[in-house]
Amino acid sequence: MSIRIGLGYDLHRLEEGDYFLLAGVKIVSSLKIIAHSDGDIVYHSLADALYSSIGEKDIGEHFSDKDESTLGMDSSLIVKDAYFRVKSDGYSISNVNIIIILEEPKLTPYKEKIKENVANILQVSKKDISISAKSREKREKDVISCLVQVLIERR
Ligand SMILES: [Zn+2]
Repeated sequence: MSIRIGLGYDLHRLEEGDYFLLAGVKIVSSLKIIAHSDGDIVYHSLADALYSSIGEKDIGEHFSDKDESTLGMDSSLIVKDAYFRVKSDGYSISNVNIIIILEEPKLTPYKEKIKENVANILQVSKKDISISAKSREKREKDVISCLVQVLIERR
């Protein structure tokens, strides 16, 4: 059996708005994420974790933010591309750890739905996904960041 680990990280600025997306889940907020794509920071970090687990190029090389075709793009498509490559290399996902660092709002009401969306794309059980939300200690209210770690295995 072969096992590998992947790590992804992303950061976006926030500005006045009415909602943003975390793994496809609409988070009602007085802020929105500034981005070229749909700004789904969980999917961006997850894609980079998957790409890194198999030694692939990072998200910016696969989907350039200078490219018109990725403007407003649905970021679940990026995760699907990364997962397809992992699967094509003969691996399946063991578990995924997600850490979202954000001042507000509190993410507790959204965590189960975020897990469900990630589990569906990666064809794993919700029990294989963990989500922790950390505050920014009342600093940097205009920034959101996310870290994702994945373990993959080939039998
Ligand atoms: Zn991003």
